[in-house]
Amino acid sequence: MEKDCLFCNIVKGNTDTEFLLETEDVVVFKDIHPHAPVHLLIVPKRHIRSVNDLTDEDRAIVAELLMTGKEMARRQHVAEDGYKLLFNVEYGGGQRVFHLHMHLMGGKKW
Ligand SMILES: [Zn+2]
Repeated sequence: MEKDCLFCNIVKGNTDTEFLLETEDVVVFKDIHPHAPVHLLIVPKRHIRSVNDLTDEDRAIVAELLMTGKEMARRQHVAEDGYKLLFNVEYGGGQRVFHLHMHLMGGKKW
């Protein structure tokens, strides 16, 4: 855990953030600045800065993020209409919290 990392603190339960799902390796919560009716963040518990920092050992967690996104889309009833799964990578790619996370956005027409 990185002491000053917002998402590490959320993962550790140091905030009042409500988890829609928690597994051994991943948590899911709502984006506080939603860009769609359904806008969730799927976040590994372990601190990884960004996609750029992923290594071969992280293949399993990457797969879990994707499969969790798929499952949450189903639970949020946006799976059939369609949705986005998105990684913003580093500042130039729109990343603002430097703890790896995947956005799930759905419930509107793009
Ligand atoms: Zn972190």
